[in-house]
Amino acid sequence: MRIVVTGGAGFIGSALVRHLVLDVGAEVLTLDKLTYAGNLANLAAVEGQANHRFLRADICDAAAVNEAFDSFRPNRIYHLAAESHVDRSITGAADFIATNIVGTFTLLEAARHYWGQLEGAAKEAFRFLHVSTDEVYGSLGATGLFTETTPYDPSSPYSASKAASDHLVVAWARTYGFPALVSNCSNNYGPFHFPEKLIPLTILNALHGRKLPVYGNGSNIRDWLYVEDHARALHLIASRGQLAETYNVGGRNERSNIEVVRGICAILDTLAPKDFPHSDLISFVADRPGHDARYAIDATKLETELGWRAQEDFESGIRKTVRWYLDNEDWWRPLRDKVYAGERLGLLASA
Ligand code: NAD
Repeated sequence: MRIVVTGGAGFIGSALVRHLVLDVGAEVLTLDKLTYAGNLANLAAVEGQANHRFLRADICDAAAVNEAFDSFRPNRIYHLAAESHVDRSITGAADFIATNIVGTFTLLEAARHYWGQLEGAAKEAFRFLHVSTDEVYGSLGATGLFTETTPYDPSSPYSASKAASDHLVVAWARTYGFPALVSNCSNNYGPFHFPEKLIPLTILNALHGRKLPVYGNGSNIRDWLYVEDHARALHLIASRGQLAETYNVGGRNERSNIEVVRGICAILDTLAPKDFPHSDLISFVADRPGHDARYAIDATKLETELGWRAQEDFESGIRKTVRWYLDNEDWWRPLRDKVYAGERLGLLASA
């Protein structure tokens, strides 16, 4: 099996690459532009593995993508490259439109051209998996779950750009018979998560005795999934899912943001105690514009059709994650110094 993973130097992409290279034994080409969110240190575990190689390339660069496909000859493409941070999309959407929409279009066209040249069994076996988010569905009220048939209703420039990319992929499947699948997953957490996102930001700010900014009153609900469970789901969907279908991925772990932040504080109170409770650092800040109230995934289709189950429950996963950040300062220190140097960090604490 020869798999191109776009965005493989990012948070979820690197978990997927580790799974494919070390557990599945696939031949993997990681194709990544290495934006601020891409980091070769995320791939340290596969460095030197004969079945992994890395190519620095932009998915918007058609010539580079065509050449990568022609020389690597993949039979699968797992597409994760994206601009992924909602707050950044609100202050500047251009990169989101370029990578998430135009980049996905460019990649799709390159992949369709490459697939068109395959023959027989190779053509039959080819798969393109587009990795997306539950944020395309917009916001839920107090009850109900997102299913694969929930209408799209994105709220942020990020989710609108991902929605556009999902529509492109589905249209390519319907119009050209292109063998694609789409997955829409809830919020991920775990090791190697970039320090601008809610969970790592909370852990690292708390360790440093800095304020823990929480949007609004902290009541917004997200449905958390451990990143390694997502990685396994993606390979399963690409391997056994029905072409032109969408699969929702989620771990049935709904938590309000304030519950998540308080939970991290309680773990740190035991693992890295201060002379005051970490929760004293919590600081409520003005809400994000267009902030969706609640996301929650119904993963029944993935569970019943493909037999997937999330293995990590939130309590053990978050404890493992906090432990990982405590043990891996070499990984986060350079990123955090950069984030502090260049960003209004207080406004970046969001899921
Ligand atoms: P991330 O920001 O950590 O990583 C994105 C990666 O894409 C980085 O390595 C970056 O260098 C690369 N990249 C960005 N623009 C590129 C370009 N033009 N060409 C090539 N590479 C480029 O993101 P993530 O959290 O790992 O998310 C990965 C994918 O999963 C995204 O498509 C995202 O929309 C989706 N997703 C994320 C979550 C989540 O909770 N993080 C949940 C559901 C779906």
